[in-house]
Amino acid sequence: PQTDPRAGAAVKAADRAHVFHPWSTQELIDPLAVAGAEGSYFWDHDGNRYLDFTSGLVFTNIGYQHPKVVAAIQEQAATLTTFAPAFAVEARSEAARLIAERTPGDLDKIFFTNGGADAVEHAVRMARIHTGRPKVLSAYRSYHGGTQQAVNITGDPRRWASDGAAAGVVHFWAPFLYRSRFYAETEQQECERALEHLETTIAFEGPGTIAAVILETIPGTAGIMVPPRGYLAGVRDLCDKYGIVFVLDEVMAGFGRTGEWFAADLFEVTPDLMTFAKGVNSGYVPLGGVAVSGRIAETFGKRPYPGGLTYSGHPLACAAAVATIDVMAEEGVVANAAVIGTQVIEPGLRELAERHPSVGEVRGVGMFWALELVKNRETREPLVPYNAAGESNAPMAAFAAAAKAHGLWPFVNMNRTHVVPPCTITEAEAKEGLAALDAALSVADEYTE
Ligand code: PLP
Repeated sequence: PQTDPRAGAAVKAADRAHVFHPWSTQELIDPLAVAGAEGSYFWDHDGNRYLDFTSGLVFTNIGYQHPKVVAAIQEQAATLTTFAPAFAVEARSEAARLIAERTPGDLDKIFFTNGGADAVEHAVRMARIHTGRPKVLSAYRSYHGGTQQAVNITGDPRRWASDGAAAGVVHFWAPFLYRSRFYAETEQQECERALEHLETTIAFEGPGTIAAVILETIPGTAGIMVPPRGYLAGVRDLCDKYGIVFVLDEVMAGFGRTGEWFAADLFEVTPDLMTFAKGVNSGYVPLGGVAVSGRIAETFGKRPYPGGLTYSGHPLACAAAVATIDVMAEEGVVANAAVIGTQVIEPGLRELAERHPSVGEVRGVGMFWALELVKNRETREPLVPYNAAGESNAPMAAFAAAAKAHGLWPFVNMNRTHVVPPCTITEAEAKEGLAALDAALSVADEYTE
């Protein structure tokens, strides 16, 4: 990469003067000015290069600037850059076909959105109209998007500021053995007790008032908690028993992240609605959607679906999806996530956990891993308090700074670091990242007791 610090300074100055950043205290942020990116790396204008263990916000599943996808976007731009959603357009038809061929069961109709949050909004609207019921049940420790309804459904502190306008959302606890709410000591106990808790919640809310249960198949931002065997099948059964629509949110877990096309494939469950975004085209152009089952599609077969977007199925975004899915199939990207995950990332992280007292737990699958950082392995006290900011977050800030100093851009959320590199990562890149993590964890260790 060429260096040009003056260009970086100009980019930064205009950003600070005019860009209003999401989820941020505007005067406290100091965004890195990015000069370019390729594959698993990006770099700044000063010549610093970083291995990206975040895949952006967990979306560049095929890495940055894949030449085939870039070419497909250029070609679509030259042919038909945009077109209204009421028409049948080749890129849109083809993207829908390729997605529907891969989604589980009879999720064969695709409603396109601009991203993940609006996919969640529409899934919930479909469920409410399909059932004629008002409420939505969702999990604490979840993230479903930043729009009004999606952020209310979210189960993390980002929803608090918008909760005044929450209507009909009820939160419950999903299984998470390491920090069990159910006094469970085994995965099986955790599974049984979490299902019992969900059924009790349904009973006390009134089954006839509940339109949907929505879960991330594997909760992502909230900590990559792989559910115990049997949990999602159990939720499926409860939904069937009470006539509730089961929505799986695969915005982060879908499109190869777990070493399967969809995380639902790992658990052999088929929801009634499944949301996706991010990895569908590696985020090269904004795109999301809802995969709709036959039964719910039927509801809107003879009556209109009351919802839509100007850019639903935008040709540029759909052409990027077609090319991305083709590349993933041709290059074995999903299998690569499984193989590098199992053979390099997982053993590497478990080895780090043995040597670093700050690592309380390693969990995940495929290219979707979390390290839970703790002050004390016995008490499991988190390295920083829940939703820490400023001085109380100093240990995680020091960890992140150390990773960056070693050329690794880490994903940090509360007391966790997530290992979520592109699914195209090579063995050598994965090892380079693990070595940088090793150094950064030594800094985290200094805060243990
Ligand atoms: N659902 C899940 C599981 C997510 O991880 C996210 C984003 O991180 C969203 C929904 C929201 O997607 P978007 O930011 O594209 O609106």
